[in-house]
Amino acid sequence: MRLILLGPPGVGKGTQAAAIIEKYSIPHISTGDIFRANIKGKTELGKKVEEYMNKGLLVPDDLVVSIVKDRIVKDDCKDGFLLDGFPRTVAQAEALDEELSKMSLVIDKVINIEAEKDILIERAIGRRICKDCGATYHVKFSPAKQDGICDKCGGELYQRKDDTLDTVEKRIEVYLEQTKPLIDYYAKKGLLLNVDGTKDKKEVFNDIVKALE
Ligand code: ADP
Ligand code: ADP
Ligand code: ZN
Repeated sequence: MRLILLGPPGVGKGTQAAAIIEKYSIPHISTGDIFRANIKGKTELGKKVEEYMNKGLLVPDDLVVSIVKDRIVKDDCKDGFLLDGFPRTVAQAEALDEELSKMSLVIDKVINIEAEKDILIERAIGRRICKDCGATYHVKFSPAKQDGICDKCGGELYQRKDDTLDTVEKRIEVYLEQTKPLIDYYAKKGLLLNVDGTKDKKEVFNDIVKALE
């Protein structure tokens, strides 16, 4: 199954991705995670993308597209994958379609998760991430048992540099301008599944599974 998770920053894409890949046994491809790993590892790519990310702007299409192209041809993607945070522009979506069509493949479904701005801001600003295993927490909605420490691995929790009020607002603006048009793009192809992201994360997941069946 080849899936795309679409939705504004902070809506819960990463959270749902973790549950979806477990249920359907497909790899999770998060362009944001790939970039953050490169920034942490101080790679050439990391240096190129860091400034865009810290400002809440999109990384240029050519950089993102080449990473995804390389990733989806890997062996673990042969029975499917879940794209999270990609595509984010119509140009990226077209590049993906072109690449898949060369391999005689198609996207099966696009899961579009939505919630209003206040919810997105509250979720993004309260997000905390484990620096060792990448597990995601929320100070209010899914707090760690021990403040600042990962339940799963004991790692330290940190706040993403771009999860400040100003940058989250900027990212939402960028989403509305550049990413939201993809809803129409995939609706026209008959691939769109709309899911209400305001519910509890388990309910959102149940709705996704129901929509996929
Ligand atoms: P995205 O990948 O879309 O930016 P995340 O999955 O990282 O979003 O979620 C953003 C924050 O909101 C995280 O702290 C996460 O724990 C929390 N969260 C995710 N889904 C829900 C939900 N349904 N209800 C409340 N909080 C949620
Ligand atoms: P969120 O879901 O909370 O917005 P992500 O982890 O998906 O966060 O993305 C973080 C940042 O990484 C984005 O604000 C952007 O700078 C960059 N990024 C991730 N994916 C893409 C993409 N497909 N195109 C351009 N920039 C991207
Ligand atoms: Zn951890």
